Amino acid sequence: MQTKKIVVGNWKMNPASLKEALKTFTSIDKSINKIKQTEVVVCAPFVYLEKLKKLSRKVKLGAQNAYPGDTGAVTGEVSVSMLSGLAVKYVILGHSERRALGETNADVNKKIKSVLAKGIMPILCVGEASRDPEHSYLGFVKTQIEECLDGVSKSILNKVVIAYEPIWAIGKSAERPATPAEYLEMSIFIKKVLNDKFGAKSIEGMRIIYGGSTNPENALSFLIDGKADGFLVGRDSLDPVKFASIITKTENAKY
Ligand code: PEP
Repeated sequence: MQTKKIVVGNWKMNPASLKEALKTFTSIDKSINKIKQTEVVVCAPFVYLEKLKKLSRKVKLGAQNAYPGDTGAVTGEVSVSMLSGLAVKYVILGHSERRALGETNADVNKKIKSVLAKGIMPILCVGEASRDPEHSYLGFVKTQIEECLDGVSKSILNKVVIAYEPIWAIGKSAERPATPAEYLEMSIFIKKVLNDKFGAKSIEGMRIIYGGSTNPENALSFLIDGKADGFLVGRDSLDPVKFASIITKTENAKY
């Protein structure tokens, strides 16, 4: 069976109120009524998840971080167990904005193992801050993948989604989006790294998606020319019309 494509919205620390969150989520959920071949996930701030859970029909719930384990003396964190009680299906881990706060590959590795143990699927973000003519950024991404997935059981590896998010392509201060060719080259490289570490059989069905200034105008070329399995979308996931357009393009893209 072919794995579904996936479009994930990363709401980050938005929107400002629960009222707005419910409105945005409802309109996304309604607009994807006819979507069948594409999984749609919204990763919302923790405080909105309980209420969004009640509204969700087709949109799956995701979180943006998770602390390994159940309970403990860890001020300010939300545990994997707490999230699984909220019907969270996916968690973004290793986002560059969290790495910028000091999160290491070893931290991400612990989180990935913990969420997988609870049946939650990790969306592992990898990507370089800049590109150099010597291609050392390839080694950087390789290390991220190897260290973040170290010790993950081969039997559940296909539950991991990898989001290639070059930092230079993310957010309002992005230089530019990556090109579909740059994405394709990196996704082939990522598959090679995975293949060398885990073997071809174990990585069957793993999805590699693109993140970084995705919008309704550039989405199709990432799908067709870049052969992306989907997207991690920041800003445009807060605009239900734009997000729905990216989802519809993903659903209808013919390879
Ligand atoms: C992100 O930060 O995960 C992201 C993809 O952001 P944007 O789409 O706004 O560039």
